[in-house]
Amino acid sequence: MNFESQIRDVPDFPQPGILFKDITPLLADGPTYRAAINELADFARQCGADVIVGPEARGYVVGAPLAYATGVGFVPVRKRGKLPWKTIGVEYALEYGTDRLEMHADAILPGQRVLLADDLLATGGTMGACAALVQQLGGVLAGAAFLIELSHLGGRAKLQGIEVKTLVQY
Ligand code: IMP
Repeated sequence: MNFESQIRDVPDFPQPGILFKDITPLLADGPTYRAAINELADFARQCGADVIVGPEARGYVVGAPLAYATGVGFVPVRKRGKLPWKTIGVEYALEYGTDRLEMHADAILPGQRVLLADDLLATGGTMGACAALVQQLGGVLAGAAFLIELSHLGGRAKLQGIEVKTLVQY
């Protein structure tokens, strides 16, 4: 499946100088979206994932169907103040800016094998923060799955020791 042909380059979004990779054409094409999720689901099964963790918002577009396809649960990671129950949190650096990510304090059981999922790996700040949240709760990092990897930004360095799967690399 040619995933790359369904990813659109948007120059100067959300800030001048950023070349944004827009996955909405891929999501809008049913067979391509399904093929992408199926390929990442194979990886999730290989990792022996018990649960999928994804950050808002595009992490849900990848993580939730992955959880459905593999028959495991999905845990949302959200920006500060959005989750209703008791949370744990971590500050993190974005490709553009900083923020805080939070997870429910009872979302992961100690020893659970966790697959992290998002649309895109850039600097690794977002997924590094998700990994830290999982580790705080005693989860085991079984793998990390993305549609896209911006290799030149070196995000894998923040996910050392975790098996990383990406469908398209730039
Ligand atoms: P990182 O934290 O620097 O690895 O950036 C990855 C996060 O930022 C992911 O949650 C992405 O959704 C988002 N992101 C960064 N750059 C892009 C892009 O070019 N297209 C889509 N999402 C992006």
